[in-house]
Amino acid sequence: MVKGLSQEILEAMAHVKARNDFEYKQTGKKKTYFIETYGCQMNEHDSEKISWLLENMGYELTDNKEDSDFIIYNTCLVRENAELKVYGQLGALKDLKRRKPELILAVCGCMMQREEARNVILSKYKHVDIIFGTSNIHKLPQLINRFNQTNETVVDVVEDNKEIIDDIEVLEANRKYSFKAFVNIMYGCNNFCSYCIVPYTRGRERSREPKNIIREIEELAAKGYKEVTLLGQNVNSYGKTLDYDFSFAKLLEEVNKIDGIERIRFMTSHPKDLSDELIMAMAKLDKVCEHLHLPVQSGSNRILKAMNRKYTKEDYLLLIEKLRKAVPDIAISTDIIVGFPGETEEDFNETLDLVEKVRYDSAFTFLYSIREGTRAAKMEEQVPDEIKHERFQRLLDVLYPIFYENNLKYKDRVVEVLVEEVSKNNEKVLSGRSRTGKLIHFEGDKDLIGKLIDVKITTVKTFTLEGHII
Ligand code: SF4
Repeated sequence: MVKGLSQEILEAMAHVKARNDFEYKQTGKKKTYFIETYGCQMNEHDSEKISWLLENMGYELTDNKEDSDFIIYNTCLVRENAELKVYGQLGALKDLKRRKPELILAVCGCMMQREEARNVILSKYKHVDIIFGTSNIHKLPQLINRFNQTNETVVDVVEDNKEIIDDIEVLEANRKYSFKAFVNIMYGCNNFCSYCIVPYTRGRERSREPKNIIREIEELAAKGYKEVTLLGQNVNSYGKTLDYDFSFAKLLEEVNKIDGIERIRFMTSHPKDLSDELIMAMAKLDKVCEHLHLPVQSGSNRILKAMNRKYTKEDYLLLIEKLRKAVPDIAISTDIIVGFPGETEEDFNETLDLVEKVRYDSAFTFLYSIREGTRAAKMEEQVPDEIKHERFQRLLDVLYPIFYENNLKYKDRVVEVLVEEVSKNNEKVLSGRSRTGKLIHFEGDKDLIGKLIDVKITTVKTFTLEGHII
């Protein structure tokens, strides 16, 4: 079991496990769970923790929903379509639940932090048994226990969480990979960008104690992990809630000292907190990868102000200049929103101009979607869909040739690749990433998965590179 988990959690886990083991003895069939995750890396890592809890309560993972005894959706609220997908899935499960009344159906994640969304579930999807939020994953054993005892819908959500709960600190995770890992360094966000729901669903910023982060990464290194991605909504403001000085750059320095770790990545960064100290650390620390994801969202100062992003186009371009001077080979990716309320043709052209100037390696591009509860949702001048789509296409027409142009720089170069998995389309082909985050395909034996190897790039495409092992 896990040192540090509170007694009540351990007892609840043991209780659920005893019940599942007893039924296994009766039926000879192991209890199974099906988990579906929406949204960001934070959610992916939360699902790794949920899986660990379920497997330590005697459940086994299945990818067959029909066959499972426990179904859980870890939800996202950043865009409307993620929310609608969950309602669609829950609706489709009504019949299965009628045929399998002993099936337990749970919903967690950012959507459940919103009272409005919880009320929709409680009123329209009464077959949902357990509802919990983003900051009390560790309580899942107790919630299952309570449901098993009462057979009544269990709702447990901590609104506006301001603290880091010890149990979350020590909660282990069934990590998807055995050689690269997500590590939370902080939770929540204080930026309140006017289009974003995250500060309302993930609570106020709170940084984990550096010693807990370093211990977690040392334990990962001891298990053979080579790469860690430090996670937070805004990692650049790490340390601000600690009652002593310990900046994000200082944390990188400490992680850089850990033997066995070869690569350090981090996301997500906010331009307003990208300090010279951090840029210097990226240049100096040998394990910090030469890739930065720096969401810009728009190139128009008028829109950036309305978004409450707290920097201007000029500030952002200066940061890019400093970054490229300090880390010449750095790859830069970003997030861009098209069609923010009030966005004019001139504003959009400012975004195209910024994209031309920065010349990104990759970008996540989004059509603005109204999020109830955010300031932008109440703004006038919502941009019509056809204009949004037309601008979105023009943005891609500018971005993609630049992606290809940046990838051309890799032709005939030998790059270090961390081999991640067998290509989905061809089992002879492996895929992995360079330190700059480029996705590379090459032929090789799957025994190389988890290893750092050298690959010579022979073929360049817009989104990927191809080569052969050296
Ligand atoms: S920085 Fe802005 S966009 Fe990012 S999570 Fe915080 S509020 Fe949302």
